[in-house]
Amino acid sequence: MQLIQNYVNGKIVGPQSDAYLDNFEPATGEVYSQIADSDERDVDLAVEAAKAAFPAWSATSAEERFAVLMRLCGLIERDLEDLARAESRDNGKPVTLARTIDIPRAIANFHFYATAAMHLSNESYDTVGRNAINYTLRQPLGVVGCISPWNLPLYLFTWKIAPAIAAGCTVVAKPSEVTPMTAFMLSKLCIEAGLPPGVLNIVHGLGPKVGSAIVAHRDTKAISFTGGTRTGEEIARVAAPMFKKLSLELGGKNPNIIFADCNYDEMLATTIHSSFSNQGEICLCGSRIFVERPIYERFKKDFVTRVAALKVGDPSDWSTDVGAIVSKQHFDKIMSYIELAKTEGGTILTGGSEPGAIATGPRCTSGYFIQPTVVEGLPFDCRTNQEEIFGPVVTVMPFDTEDEVLGYANSVRYGLSATLWTEDLSRAHRMAASLEAGIVWINCWLLRDLRTPFGGVKDSGMGREGGFEALRFFTEEKNVCVRI
Ligand code: NAD
Repeated sequence: MQLIQNYVNGKIVGPQSDAYLDNFEPATGEVYSQIADSDERDVDLAVEAAKAAFPAWSATSAEERFAVLMRLCGLIERDLEDLARAESRDNGKPVTLARTIDIPRAIANFHFYATAAMHLSNESYDTVGRNAINYTLRQPLGVVGCISPWNLPLYLFTWKIAPAIAAGCTVVAKPSEVTPMTAFMLSKLCIEAGLPPGVLNIVHGLGPKVGSAIVAHRDTKAISFTGGTRTGEEIARVAAPMFKKLSLELGGKNPNIIFADCNYDEMLATTIHSSFSNQGEICLCGSRIFVERPIYERFKKDFVTRVAALKVGDPSDWSTDVGAIVSKQHFDKIMSYIELAKTEGGTILTGGSEPGAIATGPRCTSGYFIQPTVVEGLPFDCRTNQEEIFGPVVTVMPFDTEDEVLGYANSVRYGLSATLWTEDLSRAHRMAASLEAGIVWINCWLLRDLRTPFGGVKDSGMGREGGFEALRFFTEEKNVCVRI
């Protein structure tokens, strides 16, 4: 059985405990590899290695950092097919998605920050009339912790690591224990790319053991975290009194607001993706669909027909639209929300159960599959419409006025993203300004420009990733005032 081990000080090493955890393939429900069950001791070793590497790494030129990150890009590109197959197997996502979205985005993350490092500049202030000049140095923080979730494993892992390394920090990183495989493959590519030992260290294992040790370690200067809101609360509770810099990208319950004047065909096609891509396990998926009443019945009919036609099945099959849910635990959680929706008075328009062995094929009879599910007839403030489900489940609701739908959209504790469909320019801008969200998409969804600030408001987190924001996060400003 393949062992997924840590990457510490430039070497692949086993955990201090010598213990390993089972790693499941969601499509089959079977154990197919084992992951290091690391603990505080492994984190201590990783932080020591990162500390030792920091003086030299922080002193490298932007050109040198660029060169090594670009070598890494080339190697990920070379291994794209292997990485995509591994991501699909580990997470349950369709291999097509891993091949076209996840792994290319990991390449783009390194590429973007390799070049961004060359363009980061500091401010200077000519203090006219007082014979002085001020300039601001932007210095890397030191050792930083990066902790990522299971839904977009390599994509989100590299979204944190790339800016940290590019900024001159050294890193102790932890991928999700549910999907550790591609981070392990990345560690081998880092060795091949010639990344100096200790610049990146990857410690595998459980959140409460490894993640919490990274957060609590007195030598990690900042924590960049993506995951659930409850975990974010726990991290803030530990890190805030230690005055660590924190970037928290947390949960969501995003509205998808559809006005009758929208470009209907484009809206319908995109709404299928924004509802069910990656089995609905994208923090940006629009799980509450509000439709203006004049087109509600038409939308409902067309949407349900298209959703029912999605192919749920073996993620390794190139024609699969919807793969397996990431774990048995998450499968049970989603199924419990489908039951809750029924008890709250919702009507299941399509889906609502497992697809069955005929749909998923003989290889996947024990896998964790759920049909894309559409629920109607629930009030905006019931639990199904307020709590994050993070699966292939959406609700549809009619509305009559802008104010009414704004009230529904903003009623949740979350505020990550929102999608708007309308051809009325004034309304689009008016609504965008009033929606409580960090990101608003108008007539599109998940159209990403890596230069833009990314993050949420309310219980969806604090801080922004992306662009120069992330490089600023991993650096500390120091102002220098010179009397001339
Ligand atoms: P999670 O919070 O359970 O785990 C995320 C990571 O934190 C994992 O690596 C886990 O091992 C680690 N962890 C767990 N407990 C910890 C602790 N006490 N201290 C430190 N680390 C700990 O989340 P998940 O189930 O892996 O991911 C799903 C969640 O992530 C959803 O809520 C989703 O909305 C959110 N998410 C948010 C974004 C975003 O950009 N805002 C993106 C993707 C996913």
